[in-house]
Amino acid sequence: MISNFAKNLKIHNSITNKKESFKPIEKNNVGMYVCGPTVYSNAHLGNCRTFISFDLIFRYLKYLGYNVRYVRNLTDVGHLENEDENGEDKVSKKARLEKIEPMEVVQKYTLDFHDVLKKFNTLPPSIEPTASGHIIEQIQSIKQIIKSGYGYEVNGSVYFDIEKFNQSNKYGKLSGRNSDDMLNNSRDLDGSSDKKNPQDFALWKKADKSHIMNWESPWSNGFPGWHLECTSMSKKYLGDRFDIHGGGIDLKFPHHDCEIAQSEAIDGKNPANFWMHANMLTLNGKKMSKSTDNFVLPGQIFDGKNKIFSKPFNPNVLKFFMYQAHYRSVLDLSNDALLASEKGLSKLISGFQLIFELECNENESDFNVDKWVSNCFDKLNDDFNTPMLIAELFECVKFLNNVKIKSKNLNIVDKETIEKIFNSILFEILGFDLNNDEPNEKDSKTELIELLIKIRSQARENKNFKLSDEIRDELLSLGIKLNDNKNDSSFELI
Ligand SMILES: [Zn+2]
Repeated sequence: MISNFAKNLKIHNSITNKKESFKPIEKNNVGMYVCGPTVYSNAHLGNCRTFISFDLIFRYLKYLGYNVRYVRNLTDVGHLENEDENGEDKVSKKARLEKIEPMEVVQKYTLDFHDVLKKFNTLPPSIEPTASGHIIEQIQSIKQIIKSGYGYEVNGSVYFDIEKFNQSNKYGKLSGRNSDDMLNNSRDLDGSSDKKNPQDFALWKKADKSHIMNWESPWSNGFPGWHLECTSMSKKYLGDRFDIHGGGIDLKFPHHDCEIAQSEAIDGKNPANFWMHANMLTLNGKKMSKSTDNFVLPGQIFDGKNKIFSKPFNPNVLKFFMYQAHYRSVLDLSNDALLASEKGLSKLISGFQLIFELECNENESDFNVDKWVSNCFDKLNDDFNTPMLIAELFECVKFLNNVKIKSKNLNIVDKETIEKIFNSILFEILGFDLNNDEPNEKDSKTELIELLIKIRSQARENKNFKLSDEIRDELLSLGIKLNDNKNDSSFELI
């Protein structure tokens, strides 16, 4: 049974840049494809935001009663360094550096990716196909693109002919880039490219010595271009036209524009009704980057072993922090923001748990529960507006607090409705997991350090600088550095 709330769902479509009413192509069934990670390094926090956003969408569609087939791929071959087409394969490069097999790299980082997403309590997708497991399908797609006249072979590699495609179609629909701009901006890095035009992209690349992963094909021993896997795998598992295609905003161009061009070349169809993009996560106002040290791994936030945050944070807190912004807005992560989210989440959960203590002998209620329920679903239906949904939940918490101090009344029927809906939103739709006890042993350590900081502050107030310096130096010798601010001190693990 599809819920009545389903008919009001609106989703922002990146291709029209408008919110549109959502209706699945096939009644009761939804097909959703989300571009997964390239498994050559630890799960990136920015990627986690994307997958948490699509987890919410997956969960909500299921809650509404749809059968959802959620396909999220793993890129284990074909994603080249620097995005230029002469770069080294990211997985192969890591294998070379770590002196292990490429598939060991893939295995190691796939496990890490799954582990991190499990800590965030995201649901596994229905199918998680790999690029290397679908070489036959990708060769088939290339044959179809060549047959339709939009692919050409040069020296064992096959490229997509954008100029030809633009004669009858339009490349760049999603990003809105026009092909003259792209032509001017494309660089031919070493001048030796086989491509007719610099903006053409590879469908198949002949392997040179640096590419240890390669497969036989009608054109050469080589490997598929990165954009191709999503076209071949989405077609295989969801058909030529499906409901939702998602990914991080950085994939809009060129990846998704290339996917659309490939699909249109094969069967004339833009593959998805709705294109959805989750926005970026920045750290302390800047892009996250390993080279500038403005970088933190999810696990380092959970265990507190990092130089950015003053204490460890539970995955639920990080998830709550992400939901406090709309998935299409840029979101900035900082220590203060996480401290505030921690307080906010705890207020929300304890506010909800009040409901189990309330005595409801009244016949009347001072709360319009039906209105509150429809407000909550209006927010979800408004392109999954989680910050507004959270505001509605706090409205209810405010009321429950008033019932507790007996300034408002609540009857038993309304109490049961609030309990049921609040519970579904928190755990079924937003996917919080109160059994997640990360961070665990670190918690007591943090509490001890905070206790020492408190004792030291008192010593400083009493002008006992000998004791205060002693505490600072002893902590430093244990790898805990105190940073004194005007009124208090924070610490970092060094
Ligand atoms: Zn993709």
